[in-house]
Amino acid sequence: MLQYPDSLIEFQSMFPDNDACAAWLIEMRWPNGFVCPECGHDKGWALRGKAHTFECAGCGRQTSVTSGTQLHASKLPLTVWFWAASLMATHFNGISALQLQKQLGIGSYRTAWTLAHKLRSAMVDPERSPLSGQAEVDEASLLFRIRNDPPTDGQGRSHDAKMLIIGAIELGDGNTPGRLRLSGISSYRAADLGGFIEAAAHPDATIKTDGWSGYAGVPSDRHEPHVVGKTPAHLVFPWIHQIYSNLKGWARGVYHGLRRTHLQAYLGEFVFRFNRRRTRHAAFRSLFGLTLKARPRTYNMLILPEQGA
Ligand SMILES: [Zn+2]
Repeated sequence: MLQYPDSLIEFQSMFPDNDACAAWLIEMRWPNGFVCPECGHDKGWALRGKAHTFECAGCGRQTSVTSGTQLHASKLPLTVWFWAASLMATHFNGISALQLQKQLGIGSYRTAWTLAHKLRSAMVDPERSPLSGQAEVDEASLLFRIRNDPPTDGQGRSHDAKMLIIGAIELGDGNTPGRLRLSGISSYRAADLGGFIEAAAHPDATIKTDGWSGYAGVPSDRHEPHVVGKTPAHLVFPWIHQIYSNLKGWARGVYHGLRRTHLQAYLGEFVFRFNRRRTRHAAFRSLFGLTLKARPRTYNMLILPEQGA
């Protein structure tokens, strides 16, 4: 399997320039040799005059290693993409677009934001498998940030300045946390909660909830309602509450609050890093694997996610 750097020093020696980055991407995209994305033909040759580009021996189409991927037509050097992916995937808390702009010397905030958001939009693997075994499920709310609003301290905002979210976390052996899923929802009603559970968890998984009526639709043979009563909810569901606490701290600390429009993308980023918390350096490779598979998105699609979905 393709190697990945496990330290910044190794990163630097593996990816000193664009050619080294491209060679690594070619290996990742076509591990068994070039395959034409147009006609599926598996014979082709690298063009001498065009960097990192192959010509299909079948249909004659020319394909660069980045064409048709999230890196398509980007004017940024591959080295900048690689540094950005490394910082976003392996840094404990990730990195904001503003920090990326400064750290990587990117000309404009918009360019840095687009780069970060393209990587972020690839962080959910469309082929990931649903949660299995036992899972804690609970809902919460997050304050959102309105343009030019100062960051809030999380106190005293009205309900309409909050975004509703729901999360599920697998419980592994010895009640240790496994994989996480988070989603924005429009209400705490049964249709929204049930829809999330159906998408996130395997039909055989057992769902532990606080017994809220919105969960009544979950089939009783796989539902463990724990009526919380006088026991604080964080004692009954320690992991999902720990997640919410970390999520809120991250949103405040790195982004000074999340914006409603991009909630799902940021939740995806949080989940990506949480689920790879024990394999941070391998996360760099998996982020590029997903980035090569994701269809290209333009800036306009990124700023209006509901239209680019
Ligand atoms: Zn072809």
